[in-house]
Amino acid sequence: MSQINYTLIRSRRLLSGTSVSVSPDKGVVVRAPFWMTEAMVRSLVESKSVWIQKHLSKMSPPKVVKEFKEGETHLFFGSEYSLSIKTVTSPGRTAVNVCDNKIEVEIYNGFKQNIHPEKIREALQHWYLEKGIAVITEKVNYFSEQIGVSYSRISLKNVTSIWGSCSPRNCLSFNQKLVMAPHEVVDYVVLHEVSHMVHRNHGKKFWELVQKYDPLYKTHRRWLKQNHHLLSI
Ligand SMILES: [Zn+2]
Repeated sequence: MSQINYTLIRSRRLLSGTSVSVSPDKGVVVRAPFWMTEAMVRSLVESKSVWIQKHLSKMSPPKVVKEFKEGETHLFFGSEYSLSIKTVTSPGRTAVNVCDNKIEVEIYNGFKQNIHPEKIREALQHWYLEKGIAVITEKVNYFSEQIGVSYSRISLKNVTSIWGSCSPRNCLSFNQKLVMAPHEVVDYVVLHEVSHMVHRNHGKKFWELVQKYDPLYKTHRRWLKQNHHLLSI
């Protein structure tokens, strides 16, 4: 039998009952009164193992929750950067700079400490969009030239369900989370949308065109399916 990992929350009350819950952000949580032994808790969990496994298997991997703290890892086109926070005395827009393997954020020291994470998140999101659109535009230009098509507009959007789209008027839009994915994966998404300017469907000819410029496209598509939870601002 496989061992189930759980978080145990003890109640100080003598007569409190026991409960087992499963959620995407907290995993398996067991509540039990203080006097129950570890062995009793373990056997309670084991007795519900079929139910727990059923719920665990239905859940997708937890979304990475960012706290915007010093030293936290943030992705930029697949590379890891550690967040470095500096406070400055001049008010104004929070500045973001990349230096070696660090993303440095300068934040006004007049802001209350409790709003720092939100201010840093806003600044990073702005920075991601600005840098992201530049990199993605270069990629779109490259593949459009290779394939011999021209687009009308590119935009990055805060969407959850799709990675990219190509309108009948050749307006291309991309999920802003792609700014965190590795270059080769973003290349695939860009190539996919640019290829739709030639073939408006997912037929055999469409995939042949994609494969011509990205022989590993299946690997890149799989990466997105398996790792999308890592990409969150
Ligand atoms: Zn498509």
